[in-house]
Amino acid sequence: SGKFFVGGNWKCNGTKDSISKLVSDLNSATLESDIVVAPPFVYIDQVKNSLSDRIEISAQNSWTGKGGFYWRNQVGASVVFVSVFCNFYSRIRGVEQLKDLGCKWVILGHSERRHIIGENDQPDQVLSSAVHWEEGCVCLKRGVGVIACIGELLEEREAGKTFDVCFQQMKAYAGKFAFSLVDAVPSWDNIVIAYEPVWAIGTGKVATPAQAQEVHVAIRDWLSKNVSAEVASKTRIIYGGSVNGGNCAELAKQEDIDGFLVGGASLKGPEFATIINSVT
Ligand code: 13P
Repeated sequence: SGKFFVGGNWKCNGTKDSISKLVSDLNSATLESDIVVAPPFVYIDQVKNSLSDRIEISAQNSWTGKGGFYWRNQVGASVVFVSVFCNFYSRIRGVEQLKDLGCKWVILGHSERRHIIGENDQPDQVLSSAVHWEEGCVCLKRGVGVIACIGELLEEREAGKTFDVCFQQMKAYAGKFAFSLVDAVPSWDNIVIAYEPVWAIGTGKVATPAQAQEVHVAIRDWLSKNVSAEVASKTRIIYGGSVNGGNCAELAKQEDIDGFLVGGASLKGPEFATIINSVT
């Protein structure tokens, strides 16, 4: 459904020099697909000013960099606020600032936020999941797209809870809370769902094509039942977690894998280009 969509989530990685090299690799490659890269906040301007307009820019506040967690970069930053103290009006200003920098997308609900920072969707943490919904609405109402991450922990998969966990996270994005104070998502046109099983992120343990396909089908089915058949067929559901130049082609063949969200391998220009072009 829709054009193949590939995002590169750079998380906390990069220096001015390494980013300049990566940008020039991407500028000189012949690329298919819709492409988005998500640099650390501090480098967004550099990337916007040097990268081909063919590639769109996303904000993100993922938590890790090469060699482990980065406690200083992006600490306490809400993806649409970029500072420590968040409130609704600051979020609006934050998203206006991201737009001003040329961001067309934000990545929300990354598992490194859910499980390291504690932004979670458990029923007793309704408020934190409402933050994802609220950030999403603030962005969507202002024309900024949302890459909405979901995915289960290894122990949740082993306990047979993969679908339950993913559906719970989908409910939060859709604003379907137990209390009914909130509006529905303004529009699903600008939302991409990223299924990223937590056990596959940064571990080298990629989901098999069949494992990913099974969950993507379940998510599409959830959209069909809870939003609409039209949204279910149009919404791109992309896979993330240890995607690389070697495994992307088999994954991309699956009918319900509409693209990828790539971490580590998106930092290497030629390999990221292979992943971007994995659908032929
Ligand atoms: P890796 O590709 O490094 O596993 O990271 C995936 C990811 O978290 C993208 O958001």
